[in-house]
Amino acid sequence: MRKPLVAGNWKLNGTRASIDELVQGLLQGMSQVGETDVAVCPPFVYIDHVRGLLEGSRIDLGSQDVCEEDKGAFTGEVSGPMLRDVGCSYAIVGHSERRSIYGESDELVARKFAAARRNGLTPILCVGETLEEREGGITEEVVARQIDAVLALEGIAAFADAVIAYEPVWAIGTGKTASPEQAQEVHEFIRGRLAGHDEGVAAGIRILYGGSVKGGNAAELFGKPDIDGGLIGGASLVADEFLTICKAAG
Ligand code: PEP
Repeated sequence: MRKPLVAGNWKLNGTRASIDELVQGLLQGMSQVGETDVAVCPPFVYIDHVRGLLEGSRIDLGSQDVCEEDKGAFTGEVSGPMLRDVGCSYAIVGHSERRSIYGESDELVARKFAAARRNGLTPILCVGETLEEREGGITEEVVARQIDAVLALEGIAAFADAVIAYEPVWAIGTGKTASPEQAQEVHEFIRGRLAGHDEGVAAGIRILYGGSVKGGNAAELFGKPDIDGGLIGGASLVADEFLTICKAAG
């Protein structure tokens, strides 16, 4: 039985004041959230501050990215050892905004996935197709390519302690959610592809859905057999909305 996970990706949002308010709201409502793992991924500069706010709670911390290198002359980067040092348990890698705006290739994402794992962080590997790719009928081809790059570098065993987030690019921040059936179809494909390498790993891995998940559509999405929770952008910035999503997963 896979335990659901709901992770909030705060992206480039927040101030100390707004984050204090958001976290306070989350902490107040967490007692009503059932058997679900919950994590938040603040901007790097606020991670340590949020760690202090979350002390003693069941909300875990994650980062929105991680450098593929562990130390050295890489100006502006934040490494896996640093993220562990400030209390992160998860690291998002390959978010579509990193891939499209910052030009991260499948190979670089695979190296970031490896960096997270070797530093004791659970990678949340984001995969997903653009609207053009979906309309061109190559959704599975794209998702397979993104996963295969990690398989080639790290092997199937690495997925035993990883999370995958299927995030159709056309649904991120657009208000257009994939239907539960569309999402389930791709989740099933991803699990099936991993099962071709190792059935046990495929059965155990949590595959999250991301893309305009809200309090109002979460339960239906999470009701699908291969959807094990969500990676939440915009709605994770509003405590009540995020808590509703967490409750739907639990
Ligand atoms: C995301 O950025 O990972 C995401 C899913 O964003 P949103 O929920 O805002 O679509």
